Amino acid sequence: MSFSLLHPRDQIVDTMARIYAHNMTTTSGGNVSVRDENGDIWITPARVDKGKLLATDIVCVRADGTCDGAHPPSSELPFHLGIYQARPDIHAIVHAHPGSLVSFSICGQVPNTRLFPEAWNVCGEVAFAPYALPGSKALGDHIAAQFASKAQPNCVVLENHGIVVGGHDLSTAFQRFETLEFTADTAINACQLGGMRHLDDAQLALAAKPRNQLPERAAVPLCSRGKELRKELCEFIHRAYAHRLVTSTWGSFSARVDADTFLITPSCVDRRELTLADIVIVREGEREPGLLPSRVVKLHRAVYRAHPEVNAIVNALPVNGTAFCVSDFALDTRTIPESYLFLKDVKTIPFEHAFGDGAEIASRIGPANPVALLEHNGVLVAGRTVLDAFDRLEVLEATAAAIIRARALGNIRPMSDAVIEELTTAFAGV
Ligand SMILES: [Zn+2]
Repeated sequence: MSFSLLHPRDQIVDTMARIYAHNMTTTSGGNVSVRDENGDIWITPARVDKGKLLATDIVCVRADGTCDGAHPPSSELPFHLGIYQARPDIHAIVHAHPGSLVSFSICGQVPNTRLFPEAWNVCGEVAFAPYALPGSKALGDHIAAQFASKAQPNCVVLENHGIVVGGHDLSTAFQRFETLEFTADTAINACQLGGMRHLDDAQLALAAKPRNQLPERAAVPLCSRGKELRKELCEFIHRAYAHRLVTSTWGSFSARVDADTFLITPSCVDRRELTLADIVIVREGEREPGLLPSRVVKLHRAVYRAHPEVNAIVNALPVNGTAFCVSDFALDTRTIPESYLFLKDVKTIPFEHAFGDGAEIASRIGPANPVALLEHNGVLVAGRTVLDAFDRLEVLEATAAAIIRARALGNIRPMSDAVIEELTTAFAGV
C-alpha cells in the first residue's frame, strides 16, 4: 500500500489506528488533520472512539468554515487552523497525549533530540507552548506562535497537555510523532540510570555525511533457501515493529544466504508495510538493481565476513536497551541465568565507529559477544539464525527493562563469578 495514494480520510483513519495500537493515545484523546491542495481540511471528529474510527467519521472543514460530515470536528480544530495559517508548508498535523511526552509536558520540559542523529534529523529542536484552555483560541494562538517562530519548529510540547507535530504530509508528521515519543521514552529510561549523554555538533555532522551506496550488479537470482529466508525476515521485522523494537523507518534486519550473499531490509520503507519485494539481495558487496539497502549494509557485511557462525544481524531500538546506549551506566547482564547465557558480556561501541567500514564493530561482536550497544544508535544483535537473533534481542530488552525498574527498589546484586562459571559450564554452546 502506498500511503500517499490514499484519500486524506483514509490516511487519517490509518494513522489514528496506528497511534492507538501502540498505546500512544486513549480512545478520547488526540486528533489528526490533513490540508488538501484546495484548502479543505480533513480532521478527526469530536467524541468518537479512536479505536474504531471509520473513513465516514472524518469531517471536512471548507475554507469558508462550513463542515461536511456525520459528526462535529475535533474540539481542537482552532489550533489546527492556527498552525495551517502560520505555516503554509505544513499540510498535516498529529496531536495526542502519549505517555512519555506527557511526562515532559507536565514537568515543563521538552526532549533533547540530540540523543540520536535520527531524532535530530527527523524532529529537529522541540519548542514549548504555554498552557491555555483546550479548544480555546488562546491555545491556538500560543501554539501557532511557536510554529511561526524564527526556528520554524515542527514539534511543540504543550504545557500540561501533550504534543503537536506538523509535516508536509501525514507520513512525515507521523514519523516525527513516533520518533519523538521514542526519544522521550528512552530519555526517561536513561534518566533512571543516570549519566545521560547528548551528541555535539561534530558528532551530528559526522552522522549527516552521505554514506556511499553499494554498486549495483546485474539481476541476482535467489535460491529456494534464500526465498524462505526472505519470508522469515519479513515476518520478524513485522513482529519487531508490532513489539516496538524498531520504529516505522528506523531499524534493520539481515540474514545470510551463503558465504557472501545476504538479504537485508531496504532504506526508507515503512517497516509495517514491508513486503517480500522490498527486501534487498546483496552479493559480493553489490546490491540487486533498483533497490537501496539499509544504511548499515556495510557493517552487516563486515560482521558476516568476520564471523562464519553468524547468519542473522539486527539493528534495533528497544526503549529500555537503547537507554543504555545514551547513558554511562554499564549494562551488567549477570542478572538472571537467561540474560547472561543469551547476552554474554555486552560491549558499548563508540559512536564514531558506526560511520566506518564496519571492521571495528565486527571485531567487537560475534559468537562470544552476540550483543553490543551502539552509542546513540540503538542495539546490535547477531545470531546463528533469524529466530536466534530476534530471541536475543527480546532477552536484551527484558533484561534492560528489569534493571531499570530494579533501580526503584535498591541495589542490584549481580550473580557471582562462581555462579557464572557454573552456568557457562553447564550450558556451554547456548
Ligand atoms: Zn489534547
